[in-house]
Amino acid sequence: PRLIVGLTGGIGSGKTAASNIFEKLGINVIDTDVLARQALASGSPLLDQVFLHFGYQLQNDDGSLDRAQLRELVFNNQQARIWLEQLIHPWVAEQVSRALKQNQSIYSILSSPLLLETAQHQHVDRVLVIDVPEAMQIERTCQRDGNTPELVERILAQQIKREDRIKRADDVINNTGSLSELQQQVECLHQHYLKLAEEKSA
Ligand code: ATP
Repeated sequence: PRLIVGLTGGIGSGKTAASNIFEKLGINVIDTDVLARQALASGSPLLDQVFLHFGYQLQNDDGSLDRAQLRELVFNNQQARIWLEQLIHPWVAEQVSRALKQNQSIYSILSSPLLLETAQHQHVDRVLVIDVPEAMQIERTCQRDGNTPELVERILAQQIKREDRIKRADDVINNTGSLSELQQQVECLHQHYLKLAEEKSA
């Protein structure tokens, strides 16, 4: 089996930014956020269940899902969140297993905000954490999505604590600097992972 590196971090920490750099280096990235979005893409059978359960006020005029509204809804209502997770997580888990089996990359990145909170960490050989202080998570997420700081704070409060996440890391990227500093750290880890992948397959 090939080397699999789990990549995680809190909301707005830079998982996607880091994943994009790994992809440019030719590494296969499986992103559970992307899969979870696909689970509720237009035409998905799971999407019909969401509308039936929460109502058609969540439907845009073109039939797609109003994701901002759904996000607000589930982060203000624990029961709704649990229902949605139970709908999406098994589908995502199946796609992850399938993607890991199929892939031909020297090593793979499994990127997931819930890597440490769910069974997903069982797939990985190492844990890479993207770390920034909470204030920066809030600032960057609000800038990206136009959400209120209060919403981001609530999401943060539902995720594993920063110290606990770091404790479980084999490798840590400090993403408080520029995007080019992020790139340097990713390139350095990439060299390390290539060596580990070689050792593992030897
Ligand atoms: P989420 O869990 O919400 O999906 P994420 O961990 O994938 O978030 P990104 O989307 O990669 O986080 O980053 C959050 C925002 O911060 C994005 O707009 C991204 O472009 C920006 N960003 C990430 N890293 C840096 C950096 N080093 N310098 C400046 N901006 C950054």
